[in-house]
Amino acid sequence: MQYISTRGQAPALAFHEAMLTGLARDGGLYVPETIPQMSAGDIRALRGLPYEEVAFRVMRPFIAGSFTDEEFAEDIAKAYAGFGHDARAPLVQLGPNHFLCELFHGPTLAFKDFAMQLIGQLFQRELTRRGSRVTIVGATSGDTGSAAIEAFRGLAAADVFILYPHGRVSEVQRRQMTTPSEANVHALALEGHFDDCQARLKDMFNDHDFRDGVRLAGVNSINWARVLAQVVYYFSAATALGAPEREVSFTVPTGNFGDIFAGYIAKRMGLQIDKLIVATNQNDILHRCLTTGEYVTDEVIPSISPSMDIQVSSNFERLLFDVYDRDGTAVAQLMDELKGQGGFHLSQGALQRLQTDFASGRVSEEETSARIKSAFAHMGELLCPHSAVGVHVAEAHLGDSPMVTLATAHPAKFPAAVEAATGIHPPLPERMKDLYDRSERVTRVDNDLGALEQLIRERIAA
Ligand SMILES: *Cc1c(COP(=O)(O)O)cnc(C)c1O
Repeated sequence: MQYISTRGQAPALAFHEAMLTGLARDGGLYVPETIPQMSAGDIRALRGLPYEEVAFRVMRPFIAGSFTDEEFAEDIAKAYAGFGHDARAPLVQLGPNHFLCELFHGPTLAFKDFAMQLIGQLFQRELTRRGSRVTIVGATSGDTGSAAIEAFRGLAAADVFILYPHGRVSEVQRRQMTTPSEANVHALALEGHFDDCQARLKDMFNDHDFRDGVRLAGVNSINWARVLAQVVYYFSAATALGAPEREVSFTVPTGNFGDIFAGYIAKRMGLQIDKLIVATNQNDILHRCLTTGEYVTDEVIPSISPSMDIQVSSNFERLLFDVYDRDGTAVAQLMDELKGQGGFHLSQGALQRLQTDFASGRVSEEETSARIKSAFAHMGELLCPHSAVGVHVAEAHLGDSPMVTLATAHPAKFPAAVEAATGIHPPLPERMKDLYDRSERVTRVDNDLGALEQLIRERIAA
């Protein structure tokens, strides 16, 4: 299987190369050259299988040529062994035709563990084979950084540095980043905002001497391997609810468009998905785009669902590539307009194609809190604010097909918002009860590129 860039100007790569590269050299994102198909019989055969087996069958054609079956099965087994639920992505019923898919049983209590845990194993395998080592640097508003640290802690093939904005992540998120004691883990608290963290990360990737010198690698949400790992739970949920004999819809709390794009890939592979519904908070660029065809950036307004406080949804470019008939030049032009003028208009044809697969909704802060409260009162379910945004939008789109809302984080990861809405302080799962007792290790850093680069060089030489 080969991967091509959405901007059409970068060389095609195998899966393992696309995974280590992240962003294509022409600034585009890697997508599979063709989408492997699963027949109704293949899909029916997934029913009742362990999650790991579903994962193997769904992802195998995408990684062909990069890892053997034995290697891949071993890495999948390691990736999900640390989850706190045997089903990995269990379904809970919320109403007559509405289900919640709990994606928060991984080690850092958010869905990002599904992809990051697997990526950690695959990086380790590929880098060991090459006899090389990389420096992973990431910027985070909380969930991505903790998931990356948890996935790479103790692995010999990588150092992992995570920049987070000092004082602006939740205590649970911070402790998940600062308490691992392995020497290859480096939590850096930057004096600034999340945007500053992202800007310095970008600067490091643009500083080619530094980039080559430390063998910089990224695991942010545009990495194709992350999207791929997220395709699996659409299959496990839909087959549990009757696919291939009946269609299922999904509502997905959305920021960077990675998670829901994985659902689109599942549909393109042949999975019986009716609608894919984008749920946004007040940062609603995707909802505006899907309803009007205008993709125009605005100021980010902080919300109680901070992992969705995003104005540019980087993975949306992958969908644009498809609705513009895989024309890399057209995509590159839209991205230039986005950069130069802060937005673009979709063509009428492209908008119509988007609307055949996707619907959307936007949820205010008040509605989010009210939904956390009512879900607890009527269903006994404590929702994190992101999942509440999803459930709220899903309720407006219930129809004949079963609806699955993805629950993207555990309520205990966002205790303040949950407690404000319900009066209940959501407890951490038993297996992480000692998070507050472990000692923390973090380095405060200035918002200064030179100082950051020097620190990273010193640490990896040590
Ligand atoms: C990252 C994240 C999201 C958004 O996911 P995207 O793939 O960026 O759309 C939603 N909820 C939580 C809890 C997250 O951590």
